[in-house]
Formats: sequence, structure tokens, C-alpha cells
Amino acid sequence: MSLYDKTAHELHELLTTKKISAAELTADVLAHVDEVEDKIGAYLTITRDKAIADAKSVDEKISRGEKIFPLEGIPCAIKDNICTKGITTTCASKILENFVPPYDATAYQKLVAQNSILIGKANLDEFAMGGSTENSAFHTTHNPHNLERVPGGSSGGSAAAVAGGEAIFSLGSDTGGSIRQPASFCGVVGFKPTYGRVSRYGLVAFASSLDQIGPITRDVTDCALVLNAICGHDDMDSTSTAATVPDFTKSLIADVKGLKIGLPNEYFVKGIDSEVETAVRNVAKTFESLGAEIVEISLPHTEYAISTYYLIAPAEAATNLERYDGVSYGARVDGADVVEMMTNTRTEKFGAEVKRRIMIGNYALSAGYYDAYYLKALKVRTLIQRDFTDAFKTLDLILTPTTPNAAFKIGEMTSDPLKMYLQDICTVPINIAGLPAISVPCGVTKNNLPLAFQLIGKALDEETILRAAFTYEARN
Ligand code: GLN
Repeated sequence: MSLYDKTAHELHELLTTKKISAAELTADVLAHVDEVEDKIGAYLTITRDKAIADAKSVDEKISRGEKIFPLEGIPCAIKDNICTKGITTTCASKILENFVPPYDATAYQKLVAQNSILIGKANLDEFAMGGSTENSAFHTTHNPHNLERVPGGSSGGSAAAVAGGEAIFSLGSDTGGSIRQPASFCGVVGFKPTYGRVSRYGLVAFASSLDQIGPITRDVTDCALVLNAICGHDDMDSTSTAATVPDFTKSLIADVKGLKIGLPNEYFVKGIDSEVETAVRNVAKTFESLGAEIVEISLPHTEYAISTYYLIAPAEAATNLERYDGVSYGARVDGADVVEMMTNTRTEKFGAEVKRRIMIGNYALSAGYYDAYYLKALKVRTLIQRDFTDAFKTLDLILTPTTPNAAFKIGEMTSDPLKMYLQDICTVPINIAGLPAISVPCGVTKNNLPLAFQLIGKALDEETILRAAFTYEARN
């Protein structure tokens, strides 16, 4: 029986009924990693010995007759911008190539507390900047559905690991779509929680007002289980919300009767591939046939979302990345004096996309241009937020494509950063507004590439999103 392609909840059942052991499960996943990792390249570090040892202690616990947690003994991958104590955390950057964090990120620590099994640290675009993992300083990850195509990004390794049978679930981070877009390209479920739901402590900062950690899983039930594990207030993150965390598995109800779901015109425009549009409109019909009410709506400031995001995110990134100066930690390239040392370090160790963002960000924040660019972007951010607030006065959910097209070919967009930025059109508005959103698979293109839809909810209403996503998944 192959175990590597099962869901966490199926495996939990097999573990608790002693049909399998955690050691067998881990060995099966590691054997599959050995088989496919050469082709997929989902990982930057594989923690084999630790995984085997941890699985053994889970089995000891089971043999003592103790009850196990829902994710106990379940193999997972963690994006390599989430700090893991004693385990290299590189952010797929040369500047952090040998960085070993002295502490765990809270979200990872919560999985450690459940005794999940870490298989390894997943590849990403350098510092999570990108949408294809082609910006990783180490290697490109390949889409398990088609090895010539990108897995998406920046959490491309996390999504490819789950889709390729190299982990049962994973954690990614989402600043402008980095969980949802790779989940969509790889045919798995990805959830960006409400800003503040999951602690950002120990997540290496890209754009602090947008970043959020979330799950990538094989189905909606696993998504609820991982959310249960990682959400919650954390004193170590001042932006973490004090709101109580519900039991998300209670939302796994196959019933959307009476839900009002908006379809925003602005997400079905020129530039959206016709196969994507048809698939998402069919999802709307499915929801309608199951008793939901579908209404056409407008989110009028959507067209400014990309430009707003590509000012705010680089501005925050330029500030956050100032700490990589060759002094306190990370790589150092020597120079004649301290200024030359810092210049050499940053010139040699940051990749091209990271440098581009630092330059855009510092330009937007500079004295003469602050009002024209950064301040203006903040004002437009308020308008985008207001679009959603107004829409949610009468709606329960908003349904859109996750991405304008299915997975593109490796190398297809690398020469045109603007074209790459436009890929984020459906996902960045949600980060700008701080809202929760899921990406759920909905069939394949004629070339057999995964398609997906996105459901956006009100702030802190992950439950309604899960309920509708579960209903869709359970349809016949
Ligand atoms: N693709 C977007 C970017 O390049 C989003 C990245 C992310 O969410 N981390 O910024």
C-alpha cells in the first residue's frame, strides 16, 4: 500500500487503528522523495535522520496507548523562509546560505508540538519574491504535473512537495499570492488566513503588512486540520489577532444553501485565459445548483491593485532587507572598509529580483518621491480595502479565478518582470485588504494542467470559506 499519496486525515486513521506505524509512513514518503526529488526539486534541505528518529518516538507513544494529535506522525514540508531551530533556513538566498536559526517560528513550533514529522525545507523564490521558484538562488522546482512547467511561487517547493507525494502537507507564506498561486498550479489546496490569524514570528519578513503563513494540503479537511494547529494569538507578534480560534473542522459541512457569493466583473476580463474563466463560471453554477445565490458585483479599484502592491511590497522589503549587511549574521564578502564590505556582500549575495525590489522600494520611499508613490499607494490601499468592505455588507463570499492562466513553461516569463507581476492580478488585492482566501482545484485544461478557483471571505471568517470549499469538494 502506498502511503505517500494519502491525506493527513486518512493517515491519522491508519495510525490510530495501528494499521500502519509512523516509521513505515515516514519511510514510504522518504523512499518516494528518493524516487522523484531529482526531477521535481521541491526541497533545499532534507531532514532524513530527524524524520526517522521523530517517527520512532511517535510510534513509542502509540504503543504506550497514548492518544495522538491529528497531525502527529504526519510528514510535512516547511517553506525555507520559516525558521527552524538548528536547521538551515536559507530563504533560497546566497546571503543566508549557511544561516541556522537559534529559534523556531511559532507556526512551525505548533507543528512540532503536535509531533508532525519534518521531511525538509522547501524551495522558494529568493526571499519569497516571485511566482515561479525560478528566482531561487539554488535551483528551480518543477511542476509534478508537467516537469517543463513551473510549480508557481513563491511557495513552489511547498506546493510541489504536496502534489508530488514528497510531503503530506506543507506550510507556505503568502504576501501577494504565494500560497494560493502555487497551490493552483499544482492542483492542491492552499489557504491564506486573515492577516494576524497565524503568528509571523520567525517568518523571515518580506513585506510585513502583507505576509501571512498558511497551509498547502491535498484536501479541504487537511486544510482545516492544519489551520487548527497553526492559528492563534502570539505575544511574539504584535500584529497577531486576539480573536479566538474556532475548531475549523466544524466548518466541514457540505451545505451552501442560502450563502450569497459575489462574482466580481473585474476578475473576468481580458487577460484571463478562457479555460480558466469557463472553469470558474462552472464552479459558480455548481454553487448555484447546490443552493447558493450568485450575484455579479464590482470591485472598482481592482485595476490599481498590482501597482499598489508593487509599491508597498518592495518598500517594506527594502526596509526589511537592510539587516543583511554582512555584520550580524548571514554571508559576508570582505572589502577595504566597512562600506565596501557591505556593498560587496549585498552586490554578490542578493539575486537580480531582490535587487530590483530593493531599488523600487527605496525609490518609492525616498524624500522626493515618498508622497507621489508610497503615500499614494497607501491611499489606494484604503480604496481597495473599502471595495471589499462594501461588497461584504451583503455577501458571504467572493468567487474568482486564483490565477489568470494555468502553469506556464519554465523560462517563459523570466525576461519580462512586468508580465510576471501581472500573474498576481487575482491574488494581491486580498493581501492588500488583509482578508482570508482559499485556492481549490477545479479540473484541468485540455493539456492536463490543474485549474483552480479562489474563494475570498470576510476578515476572520475562514469558516465560511472552508464550508463552501468543502461543499464543492464533496459534490458529485
Ligand atoms: N508573486 C508575488 C511577488 O512576487 C507574491 C509573492 C508572495 O506572495 N510572497 O511578490
